[in-house]
Formats: sequence, structure tokens, C-alpha cells
Amino acid sequence: MDFVLFGIQGSGKGTQSKFLAEKFNLKIFEMGGQLRILAQEDSELGKKIKNIIEAGHLVPTDVVMEIIENFIKNIPENTDVLFDGIPRSLEQAEQFNALMEKSNRQFAGVYFELSKEEAIRRLTTRRMCKICKTIYPAAYMNNTCTCGGELITRADDNIASIENRINAFFNETMPIISAYESKNIIIKVDALPPIEKVTESMMEKVEMFLVKSS
Ligand code: AMP
Repeated sequence: MDFVLFGIQGSGKGTQSKFLAEKFNLKIFEMGGQLRILAQEDSELGKKIKNIIEAGHLVPTDVVMEIIENFIKNIPENTDVLFDGIPRSLEQAEQFNALMEKSNRQFAGVYFELSKEEAIRRLTTRRMCKICKTIYPAAYMNNTCTCGGELITRADDNIASIENRINAFFNETMPIISAYESKNIIIKVDALPPIEKVTESMMEKVEMFLVKSS
């Protein structure tokens, strides 16, 4: 079974995705990461994507769907995937659902719940490694990553962009979570506790879900 992660930026879904992927042997597909790679290209599309990301708006659906279709086409059928950052709007969800159905892939969503206030606090204080892109919370006291890279503020972690991304989450992404919830394919995890506690409750809930749906 594939999983789709949902959570306001700063909810820790990127961190938890690695633990979930390791435990259930899932291949991670991270939409934001794929787009940041494209944004570095010196092309019209690259520049357009860079501007959209830095403003905190959503990249057009046709661009993200092309990336994900290519990804699905190129993975072996028996590889389970962890989708992070897609779908992000009802328009994307409709196309994503159709693509999954066409590709014979079953999925469930994991939603990391966090308040807007806590998300803003986390996003305005976190830093990212310039080299390997690992994200560090404010509590991390060193100025270098474990890989040796310098820690910097992500280009889109400015207050205007953060507000746009948070509004996009509530206006565009929440309706997808409600739609999946009514199909009983959403697993809710409280994202406020420390990382280890979130991991523990996520694993427990995912395992229970898998048992129930087997
Ligand atoms: P993230 O790394 O998930 O915070 O994504 C960073 C940025 O990439 C977002 O603020 C959007 O500008 C863009 N992005 C990521 N995923 C999507 C998506 N599914 N649809 C449109 N834009 C996206």
C-alpha cells in the first residue's frame, strides 16, 4: 500500500516520512524537493517555478502531474511509495486519484495535525543544510549540519511566503483531507509532541490501519 502525507508546513512530516519509509520499505517521492531541483535549472520553466516557490504559491497542476506521472511510470509495480506534498488541491487530488486507479495502486493518507500558530513558530526558526537540505529545528545549536554543510534559512521561509503556504494549506489542502476522511482512508497523528512521541503514535496507528484493511 502507498501512503500520502499531509500536514501544514512545519508539522514535521518530512522528518516522520523517513521513519515511515524505513519501517515499511517505502520509496519516498517528495514533490517540493523535485520542484526545488527543477527551480535550479536555467530555463524558462526553472525560473517560473523558482519564483512561485519563493512566493509560497502553488506550482501549476499540469507541471506537478507530469512529474508524478513520470515517476510512477518508472518505478517497478511492486514498489510501495510514500508521497509527500502531493496532492495539494482538490484539482490535483482528482487527477492523483485517477492516476492511482489507472496504475492499480492503493493508498491511505497520514495527516500530521498542528495549529497554525505552532507551525509559524517552527517555520520562522528552522534552518536547512545548504548541501544535503536536511531541516534543523531552532533547538539545534550548531551552525553546521552533520554532513559538514552550512545551515541557512530556506529561501521560502520568510513571513509573507509562510503565510501564503499556510493559507494554501487550509484553503486548498484541507478539503482533500476531509474528502479522504469520508472514504475512511485518513490516519490522523498529533504533530505537537516531541519527534519520538509522534513517531511512536504514527507507527501504532499505521500498523492498526494496515491490519484493519488487510
Ligand atoms: P514543500 O517542500 O512541501 O514545503 O514545498 C515547497 C513549495 O513547492 C511549495 O510552497 C509550493 O510552492 C511547491 N509545491 C510543492 N508541492 C506542490 C504541489 N503538489 N503543487 C503545487 N506546488 C507544490
